[in-house]
Amino acid sequence: MFDSHVHTSFSTDCIMPLKDAISSANKNNIGIIITDHFDLKYMVKDRFIFDIDKYFQEYTPYRNKKVLLGIEMGMREDVINENREIASKYDLDFILGSVHVVNYDGKYYDIYAEEFYEGRSKKECYINYLEGILKCVKEYDFIDSLGHIDYIARYAPFEDREIYYDDYNEYIDEILNAIAKSEKAIEINTRRFNEKEAMGNLQKIYKRFNELGGKIITIGSDSHTAQSIGKNFDLAINLAELCGLKPVYFRNRKPEYL
Ligand SMILES: [Zn+2]
Ligand SMILES: [Zn+2]
Repeated sequence: MFDSHVHTSFSTDCIMPLKDAISSANKNNIGIIITDHFDLKYMVKDRFIFDIDKYFQEYTPYRNKKVLLGIEMGMREDVINENREIASKYDLDFILGSVHVVNYDGKYYDIYAEEFYEGRSKKECYINYLEGILKCVKEYDFIDSLGHIDYIARYAPFEDREIYYDDYNEYIDEILNAIAKSEKAIEINTRRFNEKEAMGNLQKIYKRFNELGGKIITIGSDSHTAQSIGKNFDLAINLAELCGLKPVYFRNRKPEYL
């Protein structure tokens, strides 16, 4: 078993030392892929970015079959060339491509920040978000897996934050289709597995991925603390099975079956 989405102290929102992540993974008898936040051009200087050379210098001694080195690459249209260069320059095991910021009317907004939602309907915001992901998955042909497609449902300030497949099926289908066609993976992110609505809805999304020709998924806890590493992975495996998808992890940028 592999947790393919773990943050450590190279992420500016995380203080967990690599050693703590490794001992938690050993206790749970799973492997981990470190995916620290790398969001180029983030609107706050020095936030969600890190020095990749330093990352390799510090973490390479710990790298082995059960501790792999990746990044969570923040995808946006205006940094694609820089990101492509990073992807080819560094000896990463895994690139998880995630959308954390969205372009609305020429300005970038953090999905996490309330400002993005001010004066706009849920539908408008969610479509904006999904269109942003679609553009990125079409252009970022160098990622391995698409991170947390349901990310917006964590933070949107609406009473019902769920990103229902049935309400956004045309947009979600296009995203899933693009990933399936390029034979990439999509992540099952276990972060929202404690929300009752989420499970049934996520099942619809991942099932649809399979119907559209998708085959593989990565599983990630998106841990920022040691306690949540590998959390709810039994549910994620179960979900993948129900949807006819094969769990994999990436090593040296190639999928290996779990
Ligand atoms: Zn993320
Ligand atoms: Zn993350």
